[in-house]
Amino acid sequence: MEEAKRSLNFIEHIIEEDLSQSNCSKESLRFRFPPEPNGYLHIGHASSICLNFGLGNKYNAPVNLRFDDTNPSKEEQEFVDSIKADVSWLGFQWAEECYASDYFDQLYIWAEDLISKGLAYVDSQSADDIAAQKGTPTTAGIFSPFRDRSIQENLDLFREMKAGKHTEGTHVLRAKIEMSSSNMLMRDPILYRIMHKHHHRTGDKWSIYPMYDWAHGQSDYIEQISHSLCTLEFAMHRELYDWCLDQIIDPSKLRPKQREFARRNFSHTVVSKRKLLQLVNEKYVDGWDDPRMPTISGMRRRGYPPLAIQKFAEAIGIAKRENVVDLSVLEYHVREELNRTVPRVMVVLDPVKVVITNYPEDKVEWLEAENSPEDPTLGSRSIPFSREFYIEKADFKEEANRKFFRLKLGGEVRLKNAYIIKAESCIKDEDGNITEIHCTYDPKSLSGSGTPESERKVKGTLHWVAANTAVETEVRLYDRLFTDPTPDAHKDKDFLDFVNPNSLEIIKSYAEPSLKEAKAGTSFQFQRMGYFVLEENNGKQLIFNRTVGLRDSWAKLEQKE
Ligand code: ATP
Ligand code: MG
Repeated sequence: MEEAKRSLNFIEHIIEEDLSQSNCSKESLRFRFPPEPNGYLHIGHASSICLNFGLGNKYNAPVNLRFDDTNPSKEEQEFVDSIKADVSWLGFQWAEECYASDYFDQLYIWAEDLISKGLAYVDSQSADDIAAQKGTPTTAGIFSPFRDRSIQENLDLFREMKAGKHTEGTHVLRAKIEMSSSNMLMRDPILYRIMHKHHHRTGDKWSIYPMYDWAHGQSDYIEQISHSLCTLEFAMHRELYDWCLDQIIDPSKLRPKQREFARRNFSHTVVSKRKLLQLVNEKYVDGWDDPRMPTISGMRRRGYPPLAIQKFAEAIGIAKRENVVDLSVLEYHVREELNRTVPRVMVVLDPVKVVITNYPEDKVEWLEAENSPEDPTLGSRSIPFSREFYIEKADFKEEANRKFFRLKLGGEVRLKNAYIIKAESCIKDEDGNITEIHCTYDPKSLSGSGTPESERKVKGTLHWVAANTAVETEVRLYDRLFTDPTPDAHKDKDFLDFVNPNSLEIIKSYAEPSLKEAKAGTSFQFQRMGYFVLEENNGKQLIFNRTVGLRDSWAKLEQKE
C-alpha cells in the first residue's frame, strides 16, 4: 500500500510511542479538528484536516468536528455551515459534530469549583491595568489588589457576572496560579470575560464566555480526545492546558495530550482569516469562494479535486518548524489528478477563422474523438468537421522559422482527430490583423481512416472547433492573487500592496458542441490549453473557470534549442 512506503511523521511517532505504553490502547485513540467558526476554511486548515482525519483513517479512530465557538462577537452560523460543507467535500466524515458552546454549563460548574478551591478569583481591574501588572519574561508580575478576595465574595460576583448584572470590561475571572512563572501565560490567566453578545447557538443565555485556554482542553477532556493537535503558537499554552486539566481530571478517565506542529504557509497567498476577510470586505475578490482565494470553497470553484488537496497535504507532510510551501506543488497535484480523471475536449480560447477552400460548402462530417488517452473507460464522442472552423490566433504566423511547428503560409499541420491542412493565404483587416486563413486539405489524410495518408506525420497538431456549431463560451483565466511570493512578510508594506491587478482575465471563446450538455462543476482538459471547470451552463452560454494550465501540450509545437 502507498501508506506503507512513507516513513512515520513525528506526530505518528508520538502516537506509536504512546501505544507502546500500557495506559494507551488503539481503542482509546480519538482526534478532533477544532475550527473557530469565524471565517471560511483555507488551504492551511486543509493541512490540519488531513492530518487529523488522516490519523483517524490510519488508526481507525473517531475524529470529531469541534466548533470552537467561544467568541460570539465574530462567529456566525454561515461559517459553521461552510466549514461542514468543506470538510465533507474534502472527503472526510466526522464521528460527532461538537460545539464548545455545548459545554458552557459544565465549564461554568468547573469554574465555580476552582473558585471554591481558592484557585480562581474575580479581578475588577481594567484590561490595561491587568496587562501592565503582567511583568516581563524576566521580571515577575504584580499581584492584583483583588487576588485575595474571599471565596464567597468571588462566588457572588461570578454569579452576578453570569446573571448579566455587570457591564463588559468591569470584571474577569482569573485563575490563581503564579505571577512569577517564567511562562507569562501562567501569570493568573483570564478564564472568563463578560460579553453581552448574542451567540449563534446559545442565544442570549450567557453574559460571560470562557477563554480559549479554559474551553479547549476541557472540551478535549469531555470528548475524551487522546491527542489534541494544534499549531506551534500554542506550545506555550501547553503548560496552562495541563494545569486546567489537573483541576478537573478524574484519574480513571483518559487524559488528553496537546502536541504542536508547524503552521503551514504558502507562497503567493495569505492564510490568515483576518486578511482573507479583508480581501472579501474590501472587494479585491468576489467573496470567500472566489476562485483566486486560497479557501477550500475557492479551490472547489476553481476545480481543484479534493483528492489532489489530500495528496498535496500528504506530500508536504507536517513539520516542527514553519516554512513556506510553494503553491506550484499544489498545482502539480491538481494536474496529476485531473490528467488521470477528466475527459479532453477542444475549445479555442482566442479564435481566428480558417476556411478550407477545397472542402464542400454544406458538408458536415462527424468524426470520432477519444475522450482520454489516460482512461479508455471514458470512451469517445463525435465532433463535427466542416469547411470553416476556428484555431488559436497564436497557432498561425504568416512567416516563421523552422522551429515553429504550428501553421504558417505554405506549411502543413494536422488537425486533431481530423485532416492535414496547408495554409495558402490569409486575409487582413485595415489594421493588419489577420481575420481569416485560407487553407487546402488533403482528403485522404483523415486520422484513423486507414489510408497511408492518414498515417502521414507532420510536425504540429492543432486543436480546432467547427465554426457553425461552435458554442460561445466565457472563459475566466485566473492568475495568482499576489505578485509577491510572501505578500505578508514585508515590514514596510501592506500585503494589499501586492495584489495582482491582472489576476482575472475574462475572454470569449468557442467550444465544441458536445459541451452544451455539460453540467456545472464538471472538469475538462481543453486540449493544449489547460484544465477548466464548468462554472455555469444556462443553456445559452457556458462559463468556465481555468483551474490550472498544462505543464506541456501533447504536440511538441516548438522545439527548444
Ligand atoms: P487563522 O489564523 O487563519 O485565523 P486559526 O488557527 O485561528 O487560523 P482555527 O479555526 O482556530 O483558525 O483553526 C482550526 C485548526 O486549523 C487549528 O487546529 C489550527 O491550528 C489549524 N490551522 C489553522 N491555520 C493553519 C495553517 N496555516 N497550517 C496548519 N494548520 C492550521
Ligand atoms: Mg484559532
